Amino acid sequence: MKIKKIISLLLSGITLICAASCKLICRNSNNQSSIERIEYTEYKLVDNGMSEYKIVLPSEPSYDEEIAALEMTELFVEATSITLETVCESEITYSNTAKLIFLGDTQYIENANVSVASIPTDGFTLKTIGANLFILGKERGVVYGVYEFLEKVFAFEYYVKNVYALNKNVKEQYMPKLNISDAPNVEYRADAWGAEMSEQELYRARIRPFNEAFMANGMYHIHNTFEWLPKATYENVHSNWYADDGSQLCYTAHGDETELVAMQNEVLEKFQEQVNYYFGQGDYKKAISFTQQDSTTGLWCTCAACTNDKQTYGAASASIIRFLNPVAKQFKEWLEKTYPGHEVTIVFFAYQASEKAPVKQANGKLIPTDKGLVLEDNLAVWIAPIYGDYLRSVTDVKNTAMYNSFENWSVLSKQLYVWGYDTNFSNYLMWYDTFDALPDLYKYLNEFNVEYMFNQGQIYAWSNLTGFDALKVALNYKLMWDCNTDVEAFTNRFFETWFGEAAQDMRNYYDSFISWSKKLKIEQNYNGNINFVGYTRLHYPLDKLKEWLGNIESAYESIESLKTSNNAQYQNYYNRILAESIAVRYALITLHFTSYKQKELLTMKQSFKEDASALGFVKFSETKGMDFLYDTWGV
Ligand SMILES: [Zn+2]
Repeated sequence: MKIKKIISLLLSGITLICAASCKLICRNSNNQSSIERIEYTEYKLVDNGMSEYKIVLPSEPSYDEEIAALEMTELFVEATSITLETVCESEITYSNTAKLIFLGDTQYIENANVSVASIPTDGFTLKTIGANLFILGKERGVVYGVYEFLEKVFAFEYYVKNVYALNKNVKEQYMPKLNISDAPNVEYRADAWGAEMSEQELYRARIRPFNEAFMANGMYHIHNTFEWLPKATYENVHSNWYADDGSQLCYTAHGDETELVAMQNEVLEKFQEQVNYYFGQGDYKKAISFTQQDSTTGLWCTCAACTNDKQTYGAASASIIRFLNPVAKQFKEWLEKTYPGHEVTIVFFAYQASEKAPVKQANGKLIPTDKGLVLEDNLAVWIAPIYGDYLRSVTDVKNTAMYNSFENWSVLSKQLYVWGYDTNFSNYLMWYDTFDALPDLYKYLNEFNVEYMFNQGQIYAWSNLTGFDALKVALNYKLMWDCNTDVEAFTNRFFETWFGEAAQDMRNYYDSFISWSKKLKIEQNYNGNINFVGYTRLHYPLDKLKEWLGNIESAYESIESLKTSNNAQYQNYYNRILAESIAVRYALITLHFTSYKQKELLTMKQSFKEDASALGFVKFSETKGMDFLYDTWGV
C-alpha cells in the first residue's frame, strides 16, 4: 500500500483545517430529516466511546480508495476521538458479524451483490450486510461514498473553504441499515470560485478543477483556437484560415475548398498529437476543447463564405459545425483504431457571435436548418450565454435568448457543456443575488445531458467574499450534485455552521436582503447584467442598509461570550460576519456619501480599508484590485 505518500500529500490540507475550520456542531434534529428516517442495525459503530470496526482496503488499493480510507479515518477521529484501524483485505476473516467497513473493490464485494462497474461516474453505493458496511464506487465515487456515510452517522456536510458540519464527541452510534445509491446530476462539476483549492477541499466539495477535464498540454483550455493554429506559424501561407478582422479563425477558409481541407487536416493531426501525449502517460481525459477567441467586439468573420453560411443556415455557428463535424468523424475513426474502448469529445463554444444555434421551427417542432448540422456523437457544444440575466430564472421572459440557446442546441448536440455566470464581474463588492434563480437553472439543465458545468464566479480573485457569496459557492457545489436539494434547509444548516451563535442575526439580514432584492427585481426592474454598474441609492436606500448593519451589530453581540470561552471559534465567526459587512459598508460609502459629514465619511472609508485589507479582500472587480477603489476614495 502507498498510504504514506498520500498522507504527506494531505497533510497540508489538514494543517489548513486546524488553522481555519469551523469545528462544530450538532445540527438540530429537525434539519436532519434524512437521519430520522434511517433504520439501524443491532451493531454499534461507536459503543461507549470505543469502536470495534475496522476499515478494509483492497490488496492493491487505487489512489481514490486510499483517499477514502484517510478521509474516513480523519473525520471519524474528529467526530468520536476514535482512530479506526485500516487493514488490508488479506488480513481479515469475513463473517456476517465481523464489523468491517469495506472501501472499494475488494474480493468480498460478492457479499454485497453489487456490480461496481455499473455504478455511474462519481456515484456510489452504500450497503450494510449484517454488521459490515460496503462503500462502493469507481474512482472518486468511493470517496464521495465515505462522505455520504459520514453524513448519515455524524451529520457531515461540507460547505466551502474547509468549513463543514460534523457532530462532535459522539460516544454512542448504531451502524445504520443502508442500501442506497447516488450519483451526481452533472458528471464534471467544475470549480468556478476557487482556482487554488487544495486536493482535500476539492474532494470534500465533490468538484474538480475547471481545466482538468481537457487535454490542453501547452495551451490554455479555453479561447484556444489561435493556440491550435497560431497565426505566427500559419498566417503567411494560409491567410484564408483567419477572419477578415483577424480576431477569430475563418471556419470556411474564405470558401477555398483546398485551404479548408488543409486546415481541417492540420487540426485533426494536432488533436491526435494531444491524445498521444495524454494517453501515452495513462491520463485518459475525455475532452479536447477547440474554442473560439474571446472578443471585446463579439465580431465574426465577414467573408462571403461565412456570410453565406450565416444566411443559409440562420446562424454563424453553422460554419464551426461544418468545419468540425468532418474532423470529429475522422478523429473518431482514428481513436477507435488507435485506442479501442476510449472516447474523447471535441468541444466548441456557442458564445457571443456563435451563441445562436442553426435550428428552425417546422410544423411546431425544432429541427436543424440542415441535416448535416447535427453534431457527430463525439462533438459537443459548450454554451456560454454571456448576455443572460442570472438574477432571474432561466424561464423568465428576460432570459428568452438563454433559454432558447439551451433548447435549440439540444436539438443538435447529444451532450451539453455549460458555462454560466454567477457574479457581477465589474463589481465584486456588491450583492449579485442569484439565490432564487440558481435552483431553477440547475433543475432546468438537468433535463439535458449536461456533461460539464462551470458556473463562473470570482475565480482567480483569491479574494475574500461578501454579499453572501460564500453561501452561493456552497449552494453551487450542492446543486451541481443534486438539483433537487432542499435549498431552504441547506441554507439553514449553512448559517448555523458558518455563523454559529450569530446564525439567527445573520439570517435576519439575509432574509431581509432577499425580500428587498425580490422587490428590486420586480418594482425597479433591477438590471441583472453581469457587468452592471449603475447602482443608485434607490436600489439600496439608507434605511435598508442601516437595518442590515443593525443585524450585523447584533451578530457581533451574539458571539461575544465566545471571546473568552472559545477564542479561535470567535475569530472564525467574527471574520465571517465582518466579511458580510463589507457589501453594506461599501454601499453606504458609495451611494450615500451625501448623508455623512466629510470627516465621518473619511473615517468610514479608512475603517473599511483596514477591515477589508485584514480580511483579504484584494479584488474590486475581475480586472481591478482594491487599490483602484482606495485611490478613488483617497485613502
Ligand atoms: Zn470567413
